[in-house]
Amino acid sequence: MNVSDHVGLEQFIAGVKKRNPGQPEFVQAVQEVAEDIFDYIRDKVEYHEYQILRRIAEPDRAVSFRVCWEDDKGNIRVQRGWRVQNNNAIGPYKGGIRFHPSVTESVLKFLAFEQTFKNSLTGLPMGGGKGGANFNPKGKSDHEVMRFCQSFMTELFRHVGADVDVPAGDIGVGSREIGYMFGQYKRITNQFTGVLTGKGLEYGGSLIRTEATGYGTAYFLQNMLQRVGDSIEGKDCVISGSGNVATHAAEKIIDLGGKVLTLSDSGGFIHDPEGIDAERLAWVKDLKETRRGRIEAYAKAFPGSEYHAGRRPWAVPCALALPCATQNELDGADARRLVANGCIGIAEGANMPTDLEGVHAFKEAGILYAPGKAANAGGVAISGLEMSQNSARISWKEAELQQLLVETMKGIHDRCVEHGGSAGSEHIDYVRGANIAGFVKVADAMLAYGVV
Ligand code: NDP
Repeated sequence: MNVSDHVGLEQFIAGVKKRNPGQPEFVQAVQEVAEDIFDYIRDKVEYHEYQILRRIAEPDRAVSFRVCWEDDKGNIRVQRGWRVQNNNAIGPYKGGIRFHPSVTESVLKFLAFEQTFKNSLTGLPMGGGKGGANFNPKGKSDHEVMRFCQSFMTELFRHVGADVDVPAGDIGVGSREIGYMFGQYKRITNQFTGVLTGKGLEYGGSLIRTEATGYGTAYFLQNMLQRVGDSIEGKDCVISGSGNVATHAAEKIIDLGGKVLTLSDSGGFIHDPEGIDAERLAWVKDLKETRRGRIEAYAKAFPGSEYHAGRRPWAVPCALALPCATQNELDGADARRLVANGCIGIAEGANMPTDLEGVHAFKEAGILYAPGKAANAGGVAISGLEMSQNSARISWKEAELQQLLVETMKGIHDRCVEHGGSAGSEHIDYVRGANIAGFVKVADAMLAYGVV
């Protein structure tokens, strides 16, 4: 990048900050992408003339709404819900719904922006969106969650549709919440359409959707290692989170011969030096999905393992690391420690888990580093196939879908390699590759539409 590009980039980011006050996560996501895109579009006049990056970084719309519900004690509770529709140049808006007290418009705008590139990378016709509410499902009864989901959908239904915007799950939104929301959509509209993905198998869901994000992240890591003649076999792996993505990433890492040393939740992390095997992982899934307990319980159930309250797992020496909990859970110091301890590969199951300083540290170290928008795209890819199955009113077999997931992750990997390499070097900058490969398809579709 030359000096004038730097000035251009700084001005661009200053503008994004000015237009989005108090939205640090959104600015961070745009900056990470812009650093690569500015360089790439330097000599591509049309993208400049048509202000393509500026337009992708301005959501098509962001709606916010009040969500009232009644708790089990009869108290009236008020939450805020949102749907951010970032860009539908290449297909209907698509992206998850997050229920967590930390949800803000900034968080959802960053997620919708990232989703635009991720969905493009899958090769499927899906635009980018994201939604959610500052509702905490933890500690709520099933009926409280149901009443909240029904109230949320009572507004959301106006903004979504099988050919308009197709939400899915994310943090705090699993099959229970999707079921309640789909039921309410159907009740209000009297239509049985593929308006949500991640549905139960009885009512239009796709096989392997639940597993796809975590499995896909492990496949992406495997692809990066294979390219340099290495594998996951026998390697120590540190994983954060203990939800849908983390547990399924762990499952596939174990399948591929890796040793999983850690899992975490918002309370802290557990370290099992013997390795979390398939049996222990099944115990964790039951703890989280059925008993809705805390990861701390693992250390009591399995002597020899330890619980570290209030800490993240990045100081545990490992060869491979998979951040699978949430955004900004791995900072610059964590990244440098991982590298110093011999970590050679990172695949992000979560969205933007590494802060900008951490991203720069991984890039400088020249290790294999896959950003979430590439590594965790397996989930939305199978969601895209759930949409196809719903439209055609058919269900594909598990073996077919497993194969499609493997091929999709390989395709995303190869697209990153195509755009992330540089002359005279074997090293691939997967962040750059993902940003550019994701950008080009959306940008070219936008050019075709003119100024809209
Ligand atoms: P889950 O709700 O199933 O699990 C989230 C996990 O992350 C839990 O272990 C949770 O702990 C932990 N966590 C959440 N917030 C924090 C926090 N602030 N600090 C520390 N730990 C935290 O969500 P998913 O597994 O579905 O999502 C995890 C990540 O993967 C997110 O970034 C999501 O956007 C991303 N993702 C998910 C996809 C999917 O298909 N589900 C698709 C692509 C990306 P606790 O239980 O204590 O809250």
